[in-house]
Amino acid sequence: MKERANYMKTILRCLALSLLTAPSLFSSSPVAAIEIKNKEEAVASIEKRKAEMIKLSDQIWAFAETALREHKSSEALSRYAGQQGFNVERGVAGMPTAFVATYGQGRPVIGILGEFDALPGISQKVSPVKEPLEAGAPGHGCGHNLFGVASLGAAIAIKELIAAGKLKGTIRFYGTPAEEAGSGKAYMTRDGLFKDLDVCLAWHPATETQADVDSTQALVDFIVEFKGKAAHAALDPWNGRSAVDGLEAFTHGVEMLREHVKPTVRMHYVIVKGGDVPNVVPEYAKVWCWARDSKRAGMEVVLQRLREIADGAARIAGVESKFTIQSGCYEILVNLAGAKLLQQNLEWLGPIKYTEQEQEFARAIQRATGTEQKGLNGEIRPLKAPAPDPPGGSTDVGDVSWVVPTLHLSVTTAPESAWHAWPVVACGGMSIGHKGMMLASKTLAATMVDLFEDAKAREAIQAEFNAKTKGFVYKPYVADGPPPLPKE
Ligand SMILES: [Zn+2]
Repeated sequence: MKERANYMKTILRCLALSLLTAPSLFSSSPVAAIEIKNKEEAVASIEKRKAEMIKLSDQIWAFAETALREHKSSEALSRYAGQQGFNVERGVAGMPTAFVATYGQGRPVIGILGEFDALPGISQKVSPVKEPLEAGAPGHGCGHNLFGVASLGAAIAIKELIAAGKLKGTIRFYGTPAEEAGSGKAYMTRDGLFKDLDVCLAWHPATETQADVDSTQALVDFIVEFKGKAAHAALDPWNGRSAVDGLEAFTHGVEMLREHVKPTVRMHYVIVKGGDVPNVVPEYAKVWCWARDSKRAGMEVVLQRLREIADGAARIAGVESKFTIQSGCYEILVNLAGAKLLQQNLEWLGPIKYTEQEQEFARAIQRATGTEQKGLNGEIRPLKAPAPDPPGGSTDVGDVSWVVPTLHLSVTTAPESAWHAWPVVACGGMSIGHKGMMLASKTLAATMVDLFEDAKAREAIQAEFNAKTKGFVYKPYVADGPPPLPKE
């Protein structure tokens, strides 16, 4: 035993010495040598599974199922998790496609989020010009096919280290449906599914690679319905009250409000129902709106104005209005200590290298979309200072981030051009997307190794979270009960 101990000491010393030449990432103590070893194993585990991960991601890309219809995608991911020895609980938080896969026991409990829903109407082949696979069908225009698989791959790498007795604690993968519409994670947060986590991780496909320090926008999703009185539009219009008049007065009010909100506010709407035929005074009209601001507090002020405008519009038209909040989400609560850890691991792994064919594919997309032909950017962006206001966009990861410290990463899976559009679908079904998925998976796994092994890193992340959420009470925008499920 003594000899073995000496042998181990020599090994550790050698590893520690070799690390002295590595950049500042890890200290040169023997403990750090063990950390590196586990990280290297996690990375090797993901690399070993590369073909399976690509296959799974391509399957989900082809399923292209929209919010709460992701039955085959959810099944593919949860089955794979089950095959790897995770304990899988399906149908959580009232959503048939939501699931939680757990492995291990005791603390720490580290969670990782995986999305898999697609967007309607943007079906696309793996082609650098717009070419639908099936006209009008959904497509993965936000890269969520890569998102779910990368996160699950990272969770499996950690599971293997736990199984081998090299890490202690619990790893939990969350299959989170309905990100693009419906805020699935808000239901999961409301039902307390994240509350026992020490730290949670997430990533998102992007046009650049960085540990995220910018927040996202708080969002509220609501509908306004107007109910009037039908009449013949020529014979006795004075006996009718037009619901469409109410709707038009409302949208006009929104346009007037636009001048008097802060530049951080966004308001957008579509008319869902605006009458049937011109010769009937319409008795029903419906508008679907989203409003956003940098912080939920600002969002609430705008929301109150929008309610008043709906009331006023109904009075103008002599009709009734009904204002219903459908869902919404918080802005992401950024964790800088966590972002630093992600950044260290990104830099340890290094940038994505693309082939000339991949760069040419990207430039062809940029030509087709009138974007500057810069090609793909696989470089790792240096950690920046957080901006006072986020760029446009929202995610239900925001809700999770207010109940558990959440680390967020972006990895390149497409070139700069149009997002939520065909170029992202095209790249997500080929090597450009796959490369981003693999780097995301490895970065998340390496960061989770740190979180399991380094109690101080966890404490720093938790201390920052506690300071930022002092006195905070989580109030979801989603209503009680399960979300409204789409009719199949
Ligand atoms: Zn997305």
